[in-house]
Amino acid sequence: MTYMSQDAEKSPAEQLATPVQFLKGVGPDRALLLEKLGLRNARDILFFFPRDYQDMSELRSVAELEEGSAVSVCGTVEEVELRSIGMRRSKLHVVLRSEGHELLCIWFNQPFMQARFRAGQRLLVSGEPKLRRLRWEVVHPKIQWLDDDETPPAGCILPIYSLTDGLKQYKIRRVVQEVVENYGGLIEEVFPKDFLQEHDLLPIHEAVVQIHTPDDSVGLQRARRRFIYQELLVLQLAVALRKWNLTHQCQSPELPATTKVDARIRRRFPFELTTGQRQAIREISTDMARSFPMNRLLQGEVGSGKTVVAEYAMLVAVAHGHQAAIMAPTEVLARQHMRTLARDLAQSRVRLALLTGGISAAQRKETLHAIEAGDVDIVVGTHAIIQGQVQFPKLGLVVIDEQHKFGVRQRASLRQAGLDPHYLVMTATPIPRTIAMTLFGDLDVSSLHETPAGRQTVHTYLGDNDRRDKWWEFFCKKLAEGRQGYVVTPLVEEASDESVASVEQCFHELSEGPLQGFRLGLIHGRMKPEAKEKAMDQFRSGATQVLVATSVIEVGIDVANATLMTIESSERFGLAQLHQLRGRICRGAHAGFLCAFGNPKTDDSQRRLEAFAGSVDGFELAEIDFGLRGPGDLFSTRQHGVPPLRIADLRRDGTLLEEARKDAQLLIAEDPEIRNPNFERLRTMVLRRYGAALDLGDVG
Ligand code: ADP
Ligand code: MG
Repeated sequence: MTYMSQDAEKSPAEQLATPVQFLKGVGPDRALLLEKLGLRNARDILFFFPRDYQDMSELRSVAELEEGSAVSVCGTVEEVELRSIGMRRSKLHVVLRSEGHELLCIWFNQPFMQARFRAGQRLLVSGEPKLRRLRWEVVHPKIQWLDDDETPPAGCILPIYSLTDGLKQYKIRRVVQEVVENYGGLIEEVFPKDFLQEHDLLPIHEAVVQIHTPDDSVGLQRARRRFIYQELLVLQLAVALRKWNLTHQCQSPELPATTKVDARIRRRFPFELTTGQRQAIREISTDMARSFPMNRLLQGEVGSGKTVVAEYAMLVAVAHGHQAAIMAPTEVLARQHMRTLARDLAQSRVRLALLTGGISAAQRKETLHAIEAGDVDIVVGTHAIIQGQVQFPKLGLVVIDEQHKFGVRQRASLRQAGLDPHYLVMTATPIPRTIAMTLFGDLDVSSLHETPAGRQTVHTYLGDNDRRDKWWEFFCKKLAEGRQGYVVTPLVEEASDESVASVEQCFHELSEGPLQGFRLGLIHGRMKPEAKEKAMDQFRSGATQVLVATSVIEVGIDVANATLMTIESSERFGLAQLHQLRGRICRGAHAGFLCAFGNPKTDDSQRRLEAFAGSVDGFELAEIDFGLRGPGDLFSTRQHGVPPLRIADLRRDGTLLEEARKDAQLLIAEDPEIRNPNFERLRTMVLRRYGAALDLGDVG
């Protein structure tokens, strides 16, 4: 290795901290570009893993191509042509000339790619070529743009790094290679030797070389496996640590559901509980009887009856003289919870209070006062509860409804007098298994799989404009039979684009068009709370037959006679959201009918809509959505305050995730604070990466 002489005096850690600007091949200008990528020193560069690879081990000329094997070809762009092939579909042709032969590269529906090519450019393309009408073509190949002075790298697997404006792929590749050669040997191993062997992990020095400059695909796979495992293990250790902390370092009131309490509560419910509800209640009761906080997620299909489970838990707290709070994501939903509770608790001594953004200042002051004085047992509200510094003298339980709308980690703000309340979070967006194990890995999970007996299915159709008239005809027929219905359009705020039906416009068009003669109501998020409440009341009472709405009705609204739904611009909704919306119309004695109109612009959004029409199982849809959109989107780590994963992909790496999870649990069970000096490095990594996000401070 060729360090500069003064480096000999420096410790490996100091050398690894060498600022990028002093690395070979990096001047002040390029240093700025690297810093834009978050790369400040040599160590950062070693762990700046390629985002992809291009396999150059088979570099061929066009004359040597054969079908069925992946190869790379080097050539010059001769022609670029974008063709429209009907309904928002396009086909981009790039003709590559290579030693007198042509190779046609094709991209479907990626018109933006056109700008990336110009005639005369040198390219390296990789993919699986096919012979069509005597011409070789390759669909969606991987691409390398070659500089004029660049010789095509041959016979290797080429790393592809994320770039930033002004930084060329081959330049960053050169910098990384240099750093791997000169500094790669200095990084510290994270795992003890026997751990590496036991888990069949490549030692870090080899892994860092193989991940940037793989010898072959086997070496690359082993290197990736090592780093993915490491990343997942660190995450799982953090989660296991957090769980250990919660159970061993936090105190909560013991709130057992004794037989007497249990009987008294159940008497209040107007129906028999389902098996799932009983099971969830058992799990919750066990948790609440303990002296450390319950930290449980209740997930259940839309309409599966989560509210009553929450109500049970809150009444257990109240039975012990503690307060309970339930937070809903919207004012409308909070008011609905209030109504349900008031109904079930009529003629009881339980004192309820509503705390939302919509109540008057005077009312609010009075309510806050009553809560502080201990004159309120159950507080129903929105975010206002945790934002407003409410002082609960005896808070025993917090329920967070439709949890996916909040971040998960807001608990610290409600800790009082050293006592943590128990937590129950509820979601109707089932969480894919891998996510449940990671981002929510410190939560225990109860699931409601069935819905209460007598639930109706919803027939779901994907409508196109040709069948609009037919659908409205059907819609009107059902209205005439006495049913009610919703018409849902995307948010008012989002309606910038002309093609998007705005809710007000939609309301007018319908009242003068297909729904003429029926009584229509309107509700959207920009209306004042009283106006919203009034619109809901009118719909509930049947005074209006159709409610034209934005997705404010997505969560929780419950009107049994509403069995019809039209969704406009459905491509603008996520799969979970569509499914939530559908949940509004399966609540009564009659079957539901839903028609989703829309213009899916991408394959993914087409597939999303097809999945929606094809399944009514929320758990299944959650997995599909996860597969289509990926964890980053669906349950963004950022949203939950957890740093993003760098190399692991929860969709792809499920098996390694299970392995890491098991190993993490074993490690923490044996050594709950990771005090074993062999794991010192690992411990530091866990705390550095997740300490703040997961509130692991007191372990450090
Ligand atoms: P979600 O899980 O979507 O929050 P809710 O708690 O709002 O569902 O329940 C949906 C509807 O089902 C409500 O009208 C509720 O009263 C009713 N319900 C809940 N549990 C049962 C049950 N065991 N039997 C009959 N109806 C029930
Ligand atoms: Mg609900």
